[in-house]
Amino acid sequence: MKRSKKIVLLAHCILNSNSKVVGLSQYPGCLDAVITPLIQNGTGIIQLPCPEMTFIGLKRWGMTREQYDIPTYKNHCRNILMPIVYQIQDYLLNGYIIEGIVGVDGSPSCGVNNTCIGYSGGEWNKATNQHQSIQEVPGKGVMIEILTDLLLEEKIVVSFSAIKETADCSLSPL
Ligand code: SF4
Repeated sequence: MKRSKKIVLLAHCILNSNSKVVGLSQYPGCLDAVITPLIQNGTGIIQLPCPEMTFIGLKRWGMTREQYDIPTYKNHCRNILMPIVYQIQDYLLNGYIIEGIVGVDGSPSCGVNNTCIGYSGGEWNKATNQHQSIQEVPGKGVMIEILTDLLLEEKIVVSFSAIKETADCSLSPL
């Protein structure tokens, strides 16, 4: 039996940066610095769904947490996360180890330690000045918050870490 029984869950764009808001990706496809050590360690990878891509697609603007913190988006997150939660449950019941969940700090959806706020109202233009008002603040993105709650409801404890959305995409420890 060659399987390691070790699994990590990665935010979708760590394995596919094509899902990110146009102009934001720091790497062309997969984030090698995260994935290569996992492969070398024999850790299996589950790719989380990208909540923004599956909600409003590739032509979306960069938005803030306030804009995603709405009932329809939260319901969407719950719906796409339930199959993931069921998989985690089943793996744990069968003796597998979930080594962690890796999000993307700074993201309004996938931030673990930090998210971004700064909605300034209405159309994104010079008058509303949202681009200048965006700031990174401590807190979880909308989808990570919901995933945390869903796991808590099932009494599942998994550690979270994150890459940084900007700069060198460095990884906080698992
Ligand atoms: S951070 Fe989350 S929402 Fe943003 S592109 Fe990556 S997976 Fe999608």
